[in-house]
Amino acid sequence: MTARQVAGTQTKADLPAHTGDFITELDTAVEAHMEWTRRILRCVLLQSPPDEDMYDPDAHTLCHFGGWFRANRNHFDLLDAPSAARVHTSHQTMHDAIRSICGNVQAGRTEKEASLAAFEQSQSELIGLLAHFKTLILSAATRRDPLTQLPLRYGIESDFILFQKEARRNRTLLYLAIIDIDHFKRVNDTWGHPTGDRVLRHLADTLKRSLRDNEPLYRYGGEEFLWLLKCKSATEARQSARRVLAIVGTTPVPINDNEILRLTVTMGLARVGEQDDLESAIQRADQALYEGKNNGRNRYVIA
Ligand code: GH3
Ligand code: MG
Ligand code: MG
Repeated sequence: MTARQVAGTQTKADLPAHTGDFITELDTAVEAHMEWTRRILRCVLLQSPPDEDMYDPDAHTLCHFGGWFRANRNHFDLLDAPSAARVHTSHQTMHDAIRSICGNVQAGRTEKEASLAAFEQSQSELIGLLAHFKTLILSAATRRDPLTQLPLRYGIESDFILFQKEARRNRTLLYLAIIDIDHFKRVNDTWGHPTGDRVLRHLADTLKRSLRDNEPLYRYGGEEFLWLLKCKSATEARQSARRVLAIVGTTPVPINDNEILRLTVTMGLARVGEQDDLESAIQRADQALYEGKNNGRNRYVIA
């Protein structure tokens, strides 16, 4: 899966929530693996005994970065799986080359140029790949809402076009839904904005859990979400909309030790035709939402 798809397509394996920590680990890994040049030089020039971690055949899994990379591999794969595989290979190659170089020096054997070339090449590839992931994670972070962790609207246009093409090819239906929390202002007015924020986050989690993996959900605006749903029929679209309303209605939000809040949402859906563009689909979904609000809320309306 590419980074661009990640911006829109919400999957159960999310990007890391703490971008700052992720970047720090990447920076630390770059420094630690640059440091190997100096360590090898000392080993060769001073004949100083190498540290234990140079010799272990599993050095690439034992070093700090190796452990962290393994634990976070799903995040890397989500950002760019082919490059993640190259990180694994170049990291292992680099540690293998280090072991070979230091082993030869210690044993008094002449160093083969091939090991040195392998070290230089894999070190430079690894550092380049880690810089690449740093760019990907930073750019993904700017496209994601820090409050709900949902993608923001940047990716909608391209996802919409992809989904529309797919629907045409597979002869399925595509709907665009705008979901708006009912009377959300009252939540802020009653309990304050920080609680309002918590409620928003809770609702976003509930919505995410209630949708299929391949149906992206975006934070479209303040208390509005946009959802692209693929269906085989209009009946299935109605069932999906009803299911989401039911889940939201039966998942109360804890406010404090004594209070829970039962939220409802109103949903406007527009069926996306082959000739529709995003703007016109949003306009119709918005109109349907408006109708739902005027007819008592806690319902869906299909344009
Ligand atoms: P309706 O049922 O007609 O949609 O009523 P509503 O109160 O939900 O709609 P209205 O548009 O009047 O108010 C939306 C409120 O959502 C106002 C705004 O302060 C609040 N809001 C928007 N974004 C955020 C946010 O990020 N955090 C918090 N706490 N509140 C937000
Ligand atoms: Mg609104
Ligand atoms: Mg609202």
